[in-house]
Amino acid sequence: MNCNEAGTMIAPYADGELDGLRGHAIEKHLRGCASCTGIHDRVLALRVRLRAEVPYFAASPALRARVLATLGAMRAAAPPRSRPAPDRWRWLSSGALAGCTATMFAWALGTAVLDWRANEDLAGEAVASHVRATLNNQLIQVASSDQHTVKPWLSARLDYSPPVQDLATDGFTLIGGRLDTLKRHSIATLVYQHRLHTIDVFVRPESAHVSVPALRTVRGFNVAHATGSGMDWLAVSDVSADVLTGFVERLARGGASQ
Ligand SMILES: [Zn+2]
Repeated sequence: MNCNEAGTMIAPYADGELDGLRGHAIEKHLRGCASCTGIHDRVLALRVRLRAEVPYFAASPALRARVLATLGAMRAAAPPRSRPAPDRWRWLSSGALAGCTATMFAWALGTAVLDWRANEDLAGEAVASHVRATLNNQLIQVASSDQHTVKPWLSARLDYSPPVQDLATDGFTLIGGRLDTLKRHSIATLVYQHRLHTIDVFVRPESAHVSVPALRTVRGFNVAHATGSGMDWLAVSDVSADVLTGFVERLARGGASQ
């Protein structure tokens, strides 16, 4: 068995779907091939994470019946397979490639689901923090409209120093800051007042692996995201979506208007 052939079988093998003979063949290949063993390990790790982190929904009887009916119709419509001997190698190689593609697709899909889940969690957590702080009257731990007061207060309590700007002349008044927790990490939170609305802005060093959508709505609150000035900016408020997006993008640009 070569790596191409093994590639088609790694995912079914990880799922325990191979019969004895093919299972034995791939086990033998994995023992001698570091590259395929690496793929196999990653498939197992991904499966563990998917099971642990992605919510499980049982299919309703109606959905189940529809899927089974579709599969039945596909089987009935498929022409009987005939493989002339000269084409056998071509069939095998395209089969191997299709198997690889399926594995890569499953991999990409699984990773995308985890990313999506992480982003949902992040937006949800940010809204929960905002609501908790508002209800407990703990929005502000350092009350000041002076960025030179808020910034050192935060820097002294974190391992990074968030940029702090007051955009009062544009209707966004800095009223203070607090230390909050997102994703189990302490995070700088800047608090702004815009008319009667409070805006929480969570600021943390930019990290390469987050791909948060620019705008989400969670439980009626808007959550706007931007990156810039080496930071990730996540703003939460009941202010309108376009106002919040413009504001957070401006903060990320370092306060400059467009
Ligand atoms: Zn291999």
